[in-house]
Amino acid sequence: MIVVLDQGCSLKDKAAVVRQIEQQGGRLLVSVVGKETHIGLIDSVAQSLATTISEMPGVAEIRPVAPPYPHVSREHQPEPTEVRVGDVVIGGRETVVIAGPCSVESRDQLEAVARSVAADGARMLRGGAFKPRSSPYSFQGLGEEGLALLSHMSVETGLPVVTEVVAPEDVDLVGRYADMLQIGARNMQNFRLLSAVGGHEKPVLLKRGISSTVEELLLAAEYVVSAGNPRVVLCERGIRTFETTTRNTLDISAVPVLKERTHLPVMVDPSHAAGQRDLVPHLARAGIAGGADGLIVEVHNDPDSALSDGPQSLTLDGFGEMMSQLAAISAAMGRPLVRVLS
Ligand code: PEP
Ligand code: MN
Repeated sequence: MIVVLDQGCSLKDKAAVVRQIEQQGGRLLVSVVGKETHIGLIDSVAQSLATTISEMPGVAEIRPVAPPYPHVSREHQPEPTEVRVGDVVIGGRETVVIAGPCSVESRDQLEAVARSVAADGARMLRGGAFKPRSSPYSFQGLGEEGLALLSHMSVETGLPVVTEVVAPEDVDLVGRYADMLQIGARNMQNFRLLSAVGGHEKPVLLKRGISSTVEELLLAAEYVVSAGNPRVVLCERGIRTFETTTRNTLDISAVPVLKERTHLPVMVDPSHAAGQRDLVPHLARAGIAGGADGLIVEVHNDPDSALSDGPQSLTLDGFGEMMSQLAAISAAMGRPLVRVLS
């Protein structure tokens, strides 16, 4: 329920409405939308409270339907959120490309990939140190050693680092090394993990669950933001459908749908959607043309010997080629790829 106040509502009347709601145990969120002041009720409320409030001075109208994710909704904040990670702004004027290996495997591997993607215009470095793998026998990541390598390469290249955190008890550790915390698709509804990153100061890259709806993704983001961390970037990375020719089906419609419903930035991960290298540039181009604020892409210096996701990892040259194609599309969208230094 949203209480819309009269445009000339006095502070006294506004305070009385807030008090009335709080006395009934309701939690609320006040926002200014254009010339209107909205008081959104987060919890469902009794009809009797709605009636009482509608009769109070200063109340213009009661709108019964409010999105169940008030903090992240466009209704609450019409202007887009820009998420700053180091000196990179996601959701601003520029298209941001994050690139790096699926997993951090060794110092040499990370160094080769990081230097190459940085030279080709990537603005951030990715790499998994804690890997959520379908099989317990697959490579699980280097853990803290991988985090230290990421942090070292971040200093060497100047690229901020995003890496996945898979457990609430690891959030502080990962946050000490990383510039941005990634919540992977398999953990999108790990609510304790969402609350834990919501209590951290580092920005969050929240990937859509493999079988999650857009609304569930927005509710997951609401967990993080309502726990105190407003710096969330959403990521469409493909969903599981009946189609088997790709690893996942990139739901490109989710990009404009998310942009309409939330003020948070939206990125696309073409790598986990495609599952195979040759398709990645096509999906990447579609992502940018579909209005995404950026991409996160897997790149490996020797994909055939990668310890995870080799088949979908671009080669170093392949990434460079893709970036040239993306430059034209990003420019056409009015969102240049390479930062224009002012
Ligand atoms: C990854 O980024 O390597 C990853 C595991 O992604 P997702 O959670 O989208 O599968
Ligand atoms: Mn991967």
